[in-house]
Amino acid sequence: MSSESLFQRALLTAPGGVHSPVRAFHGVGGTPIFMASARGARLTDVTGLTYIDFCLSFGPLILGHHDPAVAEVAHRAITDGWSYGTCEPYSLELAEWIIARVPWVERLRFVSSGTEAVMSALRVARAATKRSDILKFEGCYHGHADHLLVKAGSGLAGTVTASSAGLPDDVAAHTLVAPLDDEQSIDDVFASHAGTIAAAIVEPVPANYGLLPQREEWLRHLSETCRRHGTLLILDEVITGFRDGVRGAAARYSVTPDLVCYGKVIGGGFPVGAYGGRAELMQLVAPAGPVYQAGTLSANPVGMRVGLATLQQLEETDGWERLEAHADAFARDLTDRLAKVAPALDVVRHGSIFWIRRRHDGPVRRPDHIPNSHAEWYRHFFHAALANGIYLPPSPYEVSFLSLAHDTETLADAAMALADAAAHPARE
Ligand code: PMP
Repeated sequence: MSSESLFQRALLTAPGGVHSPVRAFHGVGGTPIFMASARGARLTDVTGLTYIDFCLSFGPLILGHHDPAVAEVAHRAITDGWSYGTCEPYSLELAEWIIARVPWVERLRFVSSGTEAVMSALRVARAATKRSDILKFEGCYHGHADHLLVKAGSGLAGTVTASSAGLPDDVAAHTLVAPLDDEQSIDDVFASHAGTIAAAIVEPVPANYGLLPQREEWLRHLSETCRRHGTLLILDEVITGFRDGVRGAAARYSVTPDLVCYGKVIGGGFPVGAYGGRAELMQLVAPAGPVYQAGTLSANPVGMRVGLATLQQLEETDGWERLEAHADAFARDLTDRLAKVAPALDVVRHGSIFWIRRRHDGPVRRPDHIPNSHAEWYRHFFHAALANGIYLPPSPYEVSFLSLAHDTETLADAAMALADAAAHPARE
C-alpha cells in the first residue's frame, strides 16, 4: 500500500482527493503522504516511514500525538459514551476552568470548529451593536464562513472581492478589509463608515499567511479605535488560544477583547471550538437571548474531557513555560545552522509557532512584505525536508508548531535535518 495508490483512489472519492485543501500538497507539489499512526513528535506513514511532525494537525496537538495521560482520559470518556445530546458535567468543568482563568471570558459557548466559533461571535456582535459591517484584515483567515472569504480589492481599503467561487455578488457587502500594520488605514475605515461597524476581527498573531507578528502599538490602536466607535473587538485566538499561554495572545499584547474565538488546542485534537466574552454579550445567545446558534455535536463529551485534560496538564507541569523555552532554544539553534548554509533564510518565531521563510530586508508584517521567491523556494525546501524525515506543513504560507513531545534530542535532530534540507533543496 503506497501513498500514490491511495491518492489515486482518493481522487475518485473526494474533491482533489482530500477533505481539506492544504492536505492535497498543491502548495508544494507532489503526492500527499498518507499517514497511518502517530506518537509523540512523530507521524508514521502507510509504508512505515516516520517523520518528525511540525504540522501537528495544524496546531491543536500542543502535547504531541497521543499523549499517554490524555489518551487514558479519551479512552475513559469513550467507555462512558461518546455523545449524549443532553446536559453533562464535562462541558461545565471545561467552561469553569476557562472562565476562572481568562478574565474577559465570563460566559462561553462550545461549538465544533473555529469556523463556527467565528461565525457565531460575529452574529452576537451584530446583534449587540445593531450594526451590519465587519472589519477584517488582509492576510488574516477566520474560517470559511461566506462573508469572511473575501480579500481587499485593488486600491481603497474597504473595497472587497470574494476569494472563493460560490458566493453571491453581495456577500461582501458588509465586510470591510484593511491592511495589517497600518494605523492610518484603521482611522480611514472608521472615518468612512462612521457608526456602521459592528466588530473588528483580527488574529492577534496572524498565522495564516506565514507568520506575521504585529506591533503591539498597532493592536492597541485597533482596540482603542474600536472602543471609541462602539465597535466590538473580536480576537480570533483559534491558533493562539491556550497555545500562547492560558490567556492567549490577548495577554501577551495587553489587549482586552469583547469576544474571543477558540479552536484547535481547546479540544486537544478533537473537534472543539468556542466563543466567549462578557456576560451581557453572551447572554444574547439562545436560549438566553435572541441570537440563534446550536449544534448537534456541540460540547462533545470526549472533546470536552480531552480538552480539559490537555489544559490541566499544561498548567500543572508549567507546560507553556517549558514550551516557550524549547521553542526559543530550537529557533536559535536552527537560525545558527541556517546562517552557515543558507543565509538567505530567516526563522520567525512567536511562542511555539514558527515559520521559515526567505529573508526580506525590513519587517514582514503584511502579505505584500513576503518575498515573491518564497513560495517557489519552499516547494523545494519542503521536499528536501520530507526526504530528511521532517513533516512541515505542505504550504509555503502555513506555519509550523512545536509540542511538548518535541524533546531536546528530537529538536536537535530536526534542526540538523532542516539545515541540511536548506543547503540541498530538492530538485524537481
Ligand atoms: N481562525 C483561525 C485563526 C484559524 O487559523 C482557523 C483554522 N486554521 C480558523 C479560524 C478556522 O478553524 P476551523 O478550521 O477549525 O474551522
